[in-house]
Amino acid sequence: MKKSEFSEWFNELLVDAQIMDVRYPVKGFYVWFPFGFNLRNRTYNVLRSLLDTDHEEAYFPLLIPEHELLKESEHIKGFEDEVFWVTRGGSTTLDVPLALRPTSETAMYPMFSIWIRSHADLPLRLYQLVNTFRYETKHTRPLIRLREITSFLEAHTAHETWEDAKLQTEVAIKLYKEFYDGLGVPYVISRRPDWDKFPGADYTIAFDTLMPDGKSLQIGTIHHLGTKFAKTFDIMYEDRDGEQQYVNQTCYGVSERCIAALISVHGDDKGLILPPEVAPTQVVIIPIFKTAADDEALIEACEWVARELSEYRTTIDLADERPGAKYYKWERQGVPIRVEVGPRDLAEGSVTVARRDTGEKESVPRAQLSAHIAQLACDILANIAGKAHAFMLSKTNVIDKPEEAKGQHGMFKIAWCGSEDCGRTLEVLSDADILGEFEEASESFCPICNATTYVQALLARPY
Ligand SMILES: [Zn+2]
Repeated sequence: MKKSEFSEWFNELLVDAQIMDVRYPVKGFYVWFPFGFNLRNRTYNVLRSLLDTDHEEAYFPLLIPEHELLKESEHIKGFEDEVFWVTRGGSTTLDVPLALRPTSETAMYPMFSIWIRSHADLPLRLYQLVNTFRYETKHTRPLIRLREITSFLEAHTAHETWEDAKLQTEVAIKLYKEFYDGLGVPYVISRRPDWDKFPGADYTIAFDTLMPDGKSLQIGTIHHLGTKFAKTFDIMYEDRDGEQQYVNQTCYGVSERCIAALISVHGDDKGLILPPEVAPTQVVIIPIFKTAADDEALIEACEWVARELSEYRTTIDLADERPGAKYYKWERQGVPIRVEVGPRDLAEGSVTVARRDTGEKESVPRAQLSAHIAQLACDILANIAGKAHAFMLSKTNVIDKPEEAKGQHGMFKIAWCGSEDCGRTLEVLSDADILGEFEEASESFCPICNATTYVQALLARPY
């Protein structure tokens, strides 16, 4: 496996490291292997625990009646070509066709309209972790572009005022920052241009990361919905003066693209490299058998290590294989730390500790093992996060002319007046997309119309 040939590397990694199986006989539908699903659950548990501080988990149905899905015209325009429909129950044609949720606004908001009565019901902050379905016509790819998005963690909130909803989008940004920082996945945050915002939103903020091949991957979006959906679905509350008002809403979500980013930014030619927090096995313990006389003592020493590290997820590998074969197997699955115990370690009252991210090995006295591993777990996250961040930084360039981005890998920052006409021209001349925009402190000039601006566009070629 050569990570420099990213596309092949990614496909091989999914199978070799047992993340996802692509052999399911429906295009765009994939199967999580147990190991991959374990990694997925641990990663989503991190996100859940962040949301649980002020959101509640709920569950809304998979099927959405046609009349609800079609209610918001701008919203449905964004999805109509991608909807899967259920039109029959057994041999009976349904009176009302049912859509498999492409996203859940139209499943949730009719219920919000029933639930929300007064300002005392606000803010309402819910999330659910569900699958969603999109009839993708582009090339499908596991974890990145799927027809069944298996793991969409979407939050939906309702507030009294537009300002309150804006504050909630800022809470969401902070939350996703914490989530991705904990995974060591670098990101850039920008506001999507108007033509690329979520259908029906006032505005969209997105998190993008850079994949090893220089393409960008959207790994989280946050939408301020204003009162648009409230007006469509009649979600009103009685305010403090007894007046009926529309709620202001937000929604935000992360899909299994977070796993695609996690495994892609950190992995290497040997396979996965995982941050200790989400690794299904954090420490693998391997006895190095030399002579049969030592066997029992070595196994005992391994068991001692497991007890000493009982706060971690450990595995003792007693399989009848050469140590080299075991190293290879566990390295491929990204186990952050390996502890080896051989006859020499036994004689010296120490163990050998190897880290997956750097390949470094050192001898550690038994008495210091627990403290050593705790420090190592922090060092590993800091090291892989630093490396990933440095890579993205090295591929992010400030350019003056859009042509400079042509044929180049990475992300590019360029001045932009903010008009759609100039934006479209920037895209054509750079052969890249405007992912989003952000404000800079210093002024510059739009390279197309020469207008003074504080806005910078972020250009890349997205997945
Ligand atoms: Zn311009």
